[in-house]
Amino acid sequence: MNIIEVSNLSAFYESRQVFKNLDFVVKEGDYLCIIGENGSGKTTLMKILLGLGIKHTGTIKLTGFTKREIGWLPQKTQHQKDFPASVKEVVMSGFDGPGFFGFKYSRHQKDLAKKNMKLLDIEGIAEKSFSELSGGQQQKVLLCRALCAAKKVLLLDEAVTGLDDTSSDELYSLIKKLNNQGLAIVMITHDTKRALADAKHILSLSENAHFYGKVTDFNMQSKGGVE
Ligand code: ADP
Repeated sequence: MNIIEVSNLSAFYESRQVFKNLDFVVKEGDYLCIIGENGSGKTTLMKILLGLGIKHTGTIKLTGFTKREIGWLPQKTQHQKDFPASVKEVVMSGFDGPGFFGFKYSRHQKDLAKKNMKLLDIEGIAEKSFSELSGGQQQKVLLCRALCAAKKVLLLDEAVTGLDDTSSDELYSLIKKLNNQGLAIVMITHDTKRALADAKHILSLSENAHFYGKVTDFNMQSKGGVE
């Protein structure tokens, strides 16, 4: 079943076109990697999927969830690294804020946060200060935060940038584990080799002709040259 259907999508900043005529789908439990040169519009595409007010034409159909139920791990910023909160607080902030009239997070939200922290093996650092963690641990915490928001799909933008090989491998393995459990993954990456190893589908943005299809078809198209 398709949970995201994008048809004839074009994006603009003011009158400047970023990309045009994009067509692709994301299936339930899919793993789609988005690749393309810097400036080709990968982050812009994610922002459109999230409904962040980017000017566009074409259609986007979400099935079984809303824009607010998309888990989103944005590119790292200095502000995030220095976030003055505990790990648990950062994870909980993935939920829509505490309810009306001063109610705190619901029992269901607290249980889900606990379950997700266990899944990503960060329950032992729940009370630690986020800003004191290593880059790899911080990314795991932010992945967990995104997971709390995700009903069916996680969007990841350059999730391993700045991490050493060991931390990158660990993060990729966790993402694969979440995918194996049925969560759809849509990931922007520069790491084409790894993308081709883990992903089921590839979307390659390019000024002339986009490619969307199965990893095997992308391999054939690029004649095995995946570097
Ligand atoms: P990518 O993620 O593939 O590197 P982006 O989606 O970040 O590409 O950017 C696509 C193009 O849009 C780039 O040329 C970039 O400079 C431009 N751009 C990105 N954000 C803005 C913005 N807020 N206003 C104007 N132009 C932008």
